[in-house]
Amino acid sequence: REKAKLMNAQDLNRVIRRIAHEMVERNKGTDRMILVGIHRRGVYIARRLQKLVEDAEGVKVPCGELDITLYRDDLTTLSEQPIVHSTRMPEDICGKHIFLVDDVIFTGRTVRAALEALVDLGRPQSVQLAVIVDRGHRELPIHADICGRNVPTSKNEVIEVRVEELDGKDEVVICER
Ligand code: 5GP
Ligand code: MG
Repeated sequence: REKAKLMNAQDLNRVIRRIAHEMVERNKGTDRMILVGIHRRGVYIARRLQKLVEDAEGVKVPCGELDITLYRDDLTTLSEQPIVHSTRMPEDICGKHIFLVDDVIFTGRTVRAALEALVDLGRPQSVQLAVIVDRGHRELPIHADICGRNVPTSKNEVIEVRVEELDGKDEVVICER
């Protein structure tokens, strides 16, 4: 059940533009920068960031993908194990500045799995994380370096980040399960 709209299309696009600028600012340009989208929606957001960085800096930074999903091994417990299904990197990540991109950060377990997958591929110079929404409830010492909006949620609420490419429109809503 939809409870409230947190961002309309214009709000979401402003947030994504700000994140693009913040990434370039933190990286002092686009040198050795690689964007890595985390499955479904993070991948589309990363591609938009790639385009916005290109518009601003005139450089098309490489964009990769990680497919990670939460695997619930036992529906009676809350323990969710993130599984890395596939990894697509445009180039060697050694010595590069990686920006992981996801729609929502929650417990931090997906990002932990992403870091492990990256470290298996090589040694990046740095890894930072950009998300559209931080909904709280972290279970690991992991944070987003760049965050669109902090939205304190209860455990029975979920954030739906809708993107044009998959959902036919851009918006962020909070739903009650
Ligand atoms: P975590 O691993 O931090 O618990 O959860 C983050 C991952 O699960 C992200 O890939 C994110 O897409 C998904 N996720 C967790 N909670 C939510 C939520 O409320 N809304 C959305 N859209 N995704 C969520
Ligand atoms: Mg996800």
